[in-house]
Amino acid sequence: MQAWVIGNWKQNPATSHDVNVLLDDLLTAINAEEQADTEHPNSRCQLMVAPSYIHLAAVSTRLKNSSVLCAAQDISSHSASTGAYTGDCSAQQVADAGATWTIVGHSERRQYHKESHDSLVQKLSHALAQNLGVVLCIGETQTQYDDQQTLEVIDAQLAVIKDLLIQQPELISSLSERFIIAYEPVWAIGTGKVPTVAEVSKTHQHIKQKVAGLADTAEAITVLYGGSVNADNAESFAADAMIDGALVGGASLKAESFLAIANAFN
Ligand code: PEP
Repeated sequence: MQAWVIGNWKQNPATSHDVNVLLDDLLTAINAEEQADTEHPNSRCQLMVAPSYIHLAAVSTRLKNSSVLCAAQDISSHSASTGAYTGDCSAQQVADAGATWTIVGHSERRQYHKESHDSLVQKLSHALAQNLGVVLCIGETQTQYDDQQTLEVIDAQLAVIKDLLIQQPELISSLSERFIIAYEPVWAIGTGKVPTVAEVSKTHQHIKQKVAGLADTAEAITVLYGGSVNADNAESFAADAMIDGALVGGASLKAESFLAIANAFN
């Protein structure tokens, strides 16, 4: 299975200048690595970055002739295209700005914007209507982890896929091409705390089985781990067959650490 390493830049970098510096560093290092490794072009993991809306068009333009894909961090739940929704960006607008994927359901959106189950189902539907791939984030809080509720929480969060498929059963056959699941325990995001590889592996196996059951297919969906992944711990996650890559926040803001994580999954 193709590995993916995705950088979620969140509300960073602060200025367009800093965005360009990060892209310069990233593209220079990727070019050098690709030229040094022409024998194995297909064994490299797929890289993607998710800049903030304000930088999306500029970043996607700079990435156009590179191997790195560009994603939005979110899309509007209200409409796939246009409408009176102040502050929102539609799936059509982010696709027009050059994104080919979007993150949906990140825990920071769930926490600070109170995203509901129904709004997430709408976002999935709008993304797919505009041919955007979806990185769906799921994961339990510290209290839920302490109470050993991880799998229950994940099942409840994955129900958005079930409801989407009830509305649009024709999506079943292409689900694993159009969706990536990012398992991100909320307590591990930006904290430096991580679950054990065995815990992540067990949870990923559960997610793969659950999604295969929802879509009635044997085909496994890509499942990434996210939460304090860095250059030092990436190899241990990459060594596990259930972990298909990483969604990276803080460590994606430096080309060196982002590519070190990518190299662990190459
Ligand atoms: C994230 O926010 O998706 C994330 C994984 O952040 P960090 O890597 O900083 O924990």
